[in-house]
Amino acid sequence: MFPAMVLNNHKSLQTIMGAPGVKGKKVTAIPKDGLTDFIRSVVISEKQELKEPFYVLDLGVVASLMDNWTCNLPTVRPFYAVKCNPDPAFLGAMAALGSGFDCASQAEIESVLSLGVSPDRIIYANTCKPESHIKCAAAVGVNLATFDSKDEIEKIQKFHPKCALLLRIKAPDDSGCRCPLGLKFGTLPEEVVPLLQAAQSAKLTVLGVSFHVGSGTTNFSAYRTAIAAVKTVFDAASRLGLPKMHVLNVGGGFTAGLDFQDAANSVKSAIQEYFDNEQGLTVIAEPGRFFAESAFTLATNIFGKRVRGELREYWINDGVYGSMNCVLNDHATVNNPMPFACTSNRGNPACRGMRTYCSTVFGPTCDALDMVLTGHQLPELQVNDWLLFPKMGAYTAAAGSNFNGFNTAAITTSLAYSDQD
Ligand SMILES: *Cc1c(COP(=O)(O)O)cnc(C)c1O
Repeated sequence: MFPAMVLNNHKSLQTIMGAPGVKGKKVTAIPKDGLTDFIRSVVISEKQELKEPFYVLDLGVVASLMDNWTCNLPTVRPFYAVKCNPDPAFLGAMAALGSGFDCASQAEIESVLSLGVSPDRIIYANTCKPESHIKCAAAVGVNLATFDSKDEIEKIQKFHPKCALLLRIKAPDDSGCRCPLGLKFGTLPEEVVPLLQAAQSAKLTVLGVSFHVGSGTTNFSAYRTAIAAVKTVFDAASRLGLPKMHVLNVGGGFTAGLDFQDAANSVKSAIQEYFDNEQGLTVIAEPGRFFAESAFTLATNIFGKRVRGELREYWINDGVYGSMNCVLNDHATVNNPMPFACTSNRGNPACRGMRTYCSTVFGPTCDALDMVLTGHQLPELQVNDWLLFPKMGAYTAAAGSNFNGFNTAAITTSLAYSDQD
C-alpha cells in the first residue's frame, strides 16, 4: 500500500529533486541558515523590478520534517492534508518522501493523482461529499473515505459501493486547539451503533475510525481520550458482528517544534494502552500544519508608508485577503517579520541594532480590516524595502483571494533546499 519512508537526508535530496512538481524546476541548494541570504538574492536578481510578493519553499525542511515524523511516530503513516497547502512542488516532494494524501474534493484528488500518486495512497477525508465528487473517486479508484451520517452512507452505496469507510467520530475533548472542528464533524457516541448498522445493511465495509482533535492543539491528552473513544467503537463493531476493524486514523492537529515529541508520545502511549493486543492494526494520520507551516517563507514588498508622530505605518502587497487570511481564519498571529531594507539601508539590510518604532502593517486592499500587524516594533523602513514572514506555509496561500484586484491567490514560489545536517 505504501512505499518505505525515506530516512536519509542525502537520499531525500535525490528523491525530492526527481519528484513530480519539482523536477525540471530551479532548486537552489543553500547552507543550513542560508534562507534569508537566498531570499535577498532572489529579491535582488529577479524581483527588484516586479516587486511582487513571493514564497520560498525550503525542500530541505520538508525532508527533515519527514525524518522527524518517522523518528517520533514510526508506525503512524502520514496522509498529508492537501487543504493546508496545495503547492504542487510541495505535494510532489511529500509524494516522493512516501506520504499518502488526505483529499477533501475532486480537484484535490485530481491534483494528487496528476503527480503520479496511486489512488490507494489517497483517503477522501471529507465526511459530506457532493455526488459528482463521489463518482469521480469511484472512477479513479480512490476507495477509502470518511463519513459521519446516514445520508452519506446512502450516497456512497449508490455511487461508490466498493468504497471502504472510516467512521469519523467527534473527539471527546477538543479544548486547547486553535481551530476546533467538532461542531461540524464527527458522530456523537449515541450515533455510532445506528451508523454502523446502517453501513452493514448497505453492505459497505467500515475498516476503522478517524477523528481530529482540532488544528494546532496544545492539549495532547486530547489524543488519548479520542483513541480511548475509538476503542469503544471497535468494541461496538465486534458486538454487532461486523468484520473486525483495523484502521485507526488519528487525524491532524500536530505542530512541528519542540512540543511534537509530547504529542507523539501521547499518541503512542494511548495506542499501547487501548490497542496493545490488537493484531494487524494500521495507524494513519492526516497531518497538515506539521509539514507545511515552517517549510514556506513569504516575502512581501513595502509599497506605501505613512508617518504619524512616532507611529510608522506600512502597506505591503499581501494581506488578510491573501496569505494573511490565517489571521482571520486560522486564529494565527503572523510570526516576527524580518526586514530586508535593500533600498534604504544597504549596509545593514537586516537593520540589526537599529532603533525601532511602534509600527502598523497593512495589506493592500481598501478594507480597513486588512491589517497584518499592529503595535509591532520595527526599524524605520522605506517604500520598496521588503518584509519577510517565516513559517507561512499552513492555511495561508491556500485560502488567498483576488479581492480588490490584488491576486494574492496566485503568488509564485521559489524553491530552495537547505542542508539540514
Ligand atoms: C484540516 C484537516 C486535517 C489537517 O489538520 P492539521 O491540524 O493541519 O494537521 C486533517 N484531517 C482533516 C479531515 C482535516 O479536515
